[in-house]
Parts: sequence; structure tokens; C-alpha cells
Amino acid sequence: MFMLSRVLNLESVSRVGEEVLLKGWINARRNMGKIVFLDLRDRSGIVQLVGVPQELDPASLEKLTMVRPEWVIEIRGLVKERGVKQQNPDMPTGTIEILIKELKVLNTAETPPFEIDKDTMPISEELRLKYRYLDLRSERMQKNIRLRSQYVQLCREYLFGNEFVEIETPLLTKATPEGSRDFVVPSRLQPGMFFALPQSPQQYKQLLMVAGFERYFQTARALRDEDPRSDRGFEHTQIDIEMSFVEREDVMQMVEGMVVNAAEKLGYTIKQKPFPRIAYKEAVEKYGADKFDLRTEEDKLNKVLAYAWVIDFPFFEKTDEGKWTFTHNPFSQPLPEYVADHLAGRNIEHILTSQYDLVCNGYESGGGSIRAHDPEMLRATYKTMGYTPEEIEESVGHMLKAFTFGAPPHGGIALGVERNLMNLTDEAYLREVVAFPMTSSANTSVMDAPTTLPDKTLAELHVSIKK
Ligand code: ASP
Repeated sequence: MFMLSRVLNLESVSRVGEEVLLKGWINARRNMGKIVFLDLRDRSGIVQLVGVPQELDPASLEKLTMVRPEWVIEIRGLVKERGVKQQNPDMPTGTIEILIKELKVLNTAETPPFEIDKDTMPISEELRLKYRYLDLRSERMQKNIRLRSQYVQLCREYLFGNEFVEIETPLLTKATPEGSRDFVVPSRLQPGMFFALPQSPQQYKQLLMVAGFERYFQTARALRDEDPRSDRGFEHTQIDIEMSFVEREDVMQMVEGMVVNAAEKLGYTIKQKPFPRIAYKEAVEKYGADKFDLRTEEDKLNKVLAYAWVIDFPFFEKTDEGKWTFTHNPFSQPLPEYVADHLAGRNIEHILTSQYDLVCNGYESGGGSIRAHDPEMLRATYKTMGYTPEEIEESVGHMLKAFTFGAPPHGGIALGVERNLMNLTDEAYLREVVAFPMTSSANTSVMDAPTTLPDKTLAELHVSIKK
């Protein structure tokens, strides 16, 4: 329509006296007699447009009377400095307004089921997630999702700067004993067989160490069929890391460097560096749990992030049936002084593992360990957990095999992206930092899965439903 190229709302601040072309959504409309004020929203923010009838051609004037919130428009207008009294110091564009010269409607909008960016009425979670694409237009959600992208970018850059290789691992994989229920996918080509979606890339990343990559990372999706909670969903994203020829301090320091770099570049203050290291036993005695909040009330007001490492966890704990199971990760290596007991299956309750958990502001924001790279060490873990030699083979035989071909000492960690973002944004719910989260009744936003499948599809998958 116009011979200008588009500028962003925020950029128009430096274009006083010029004509600009702006495009975006109408955030609000106010009529003052014959004059119409429109707040125009684009990805850079909001700017005030002024529609004065005598400045407009008849077509534009007609459009001006029609436009409503959430309509998509394009305008050509003159950037004008606001009078001192009209300036709004709370708005980055509050010193200017745009006098509309021409207005074009790019698209109309139904009246939204809730007002965007108005906290006048609490909106139900159900409605927000049903119309998530509208909810995401709000300033709060735009900020959270953009911050998430920046955070991941900063972590990525840091890892690339430290010679990590980003490698994707399969989504269709084998069920593994990682402490949670698997989501499974029926195989059409192999009747009666199922893939499992990964609870984490744990085994693949270890295999990549056997393969000689030495430094791996991935922003990985992890899927676990657990009951959803405020800080946990079916799927989450991990910054997943594995390194060869390292001891636990090496991994902890690398991750600490990454986390500090990202948080400080985003303008946050970190309470204590290096992060304090606290033994599990001490944490439980002192704070009553292995997750704790080290912030003072003042820290909370000042966006302070209080990180700490928890180390020296027991390797095993008793199940309700009285069997031993791992507390964190079956692939971990015990601490050096417990290796002999571990191999002999002795003093099980005393064995401490190389596990390290990263805690921040009361949340567990990551966890990892040095791994068993000797097949005998891993076999001993499964033996302690009561697996028969056949069951061990069935469960982790491929890892035991891989470890016979020169597996380097290695260890790693996974950081939960959502948990970290909850800390950065001070949001209490995981859904506030996820674009399309699950509802609390475990349905997807907007698209309303899970759904039934046609009989033909089920037949193809060799699945019959028990009614
Ligand atoms: N695989 C572990 C997890 O997802 C993290 C790790 O040990 O690297 O919790």
C-alpha cells in the first residue's frame, strides 16, 4: 500500500518529524469526541496512534470508525513529539504519538473471549489454554517466552564456546528404568511391540561419550508419564550435557559457569559464587529437605538467584516392597571410597553416589552425576537392585556391551529449562514459561488431545481398546 518500509513501534521514537509505516494489532481504542486514539501493539511494544478526521482520506476515515481491539492494521503516519503534559514516562514510546495519515485493515478479529493484557478479571486456566494464542499476546507471556529463548541461546553460546557439540538423539526409543513411567508408542510394523518416548537422553549421551565426542549437549525434550503438578508437566526441556575425562567438580564448574553467564547477562544478581556445596545429610539436617531457598526477604525483592549444589547423596534407598532402588540415577558411579563396597554389594545403605543436584530459590533446577563406565560397576548397581543376570542383560545389556569397547570416564547433568525460567520470571506455575502447556486435567492446549482413534488406525497399530 505505502512506499515506506515498515518500522517497529519502538523505532518510531527516533523518527520524530518523519512519516513511518507501522503494522500490528490494536491493543486498545479510545474515542475522544471525533478523535480516536488507538494503541498499536507489535513485537517491540505499544505506541499511541491518533486518528483526526480532517487528516484522513475518506477510506481511511471509514476504517478508523470500524477498527476494534485485536484487529490487524497497517498505518502511515507522522511521528510527533507529545506535549510535556501528555508524555507517559511508563511507556518506552511515551514521548511520542503517531498522527495517522492512512489506515488499512489487514485483518479483522472477533471479540476475544478475554481481554488481552487487562488484569481486571481473573481468566480461568481453561480459557487461557483453549485460546492460548491469544493469551500469548499478553505482555507477561511475551516477556516469559522471549526470556526463555534468550536464556537457552545464552546457554547454547556458552557451550559452543567451550567446544561442546550439539547432537540430537532419538525420540522413539526403548523403555528404560529411569524412575518414572514411560509414554509408549505402538509399532505398526512390529505387531505387539512398543517404542518408549525418552525420559531423558541419558543412555544415548553416554553412548556418545563412548563414541568419542567428549563434549555433548542438546536442548532435549524429556517425557515422563507422571501426574502433572504446578512445577512438573508430562514433557519438559532439558539442557542436557555430558563430558568425558571429568570428575564431578569439572562438570559442576562448567555448569556453574554457564548458569552464571546466562543469569548475569540477563541482569540477575547471584547471591554466592562459587555456589555453596552442601552435603545431602547436612541439607536435610539444616533445611529439612534437599531443596531449599537461601534467599533473604530482601533478596527476594531484588531478583537475587541463590544457587547451591547438593552432593554426597545416598546411592540407594529402600522401596515399599523392601528392595533397594537408586535414589537418582542408576548409571551413576559411587564416590571413590565406596567403590569396593559397591562392587561387593556390601554396606548398601552407606554407599554415597557422585550425584550433584543444582538447587535454586527452593527448586531443584538440575541434576547429574559421574557415570559408571566400567561394565562391572553398572552390573553391580543392577545386582543390588535385585535384577537377575538375564534381567540385567535385557535392561542395560547394550550399555554393558558398549562399555567393553573403551568407554572413557564421563559424567554429565541435565538442567530443567522450565524450572530455571520459573526462577528467572518468579512464576509459580510451569505453564507460565511454556508456550503450549498441558492443562491440569492433562489435555493439550488449543488442540485438545488426547483423542480417540478411528478403528482402522487402531487395527493398523495392532491395538484393541478394552472398554
Ligand atoms: N538423565 C538425568 C535426568 O534426566 C540427568 C543426568 O544425570 O544427566 O534427570
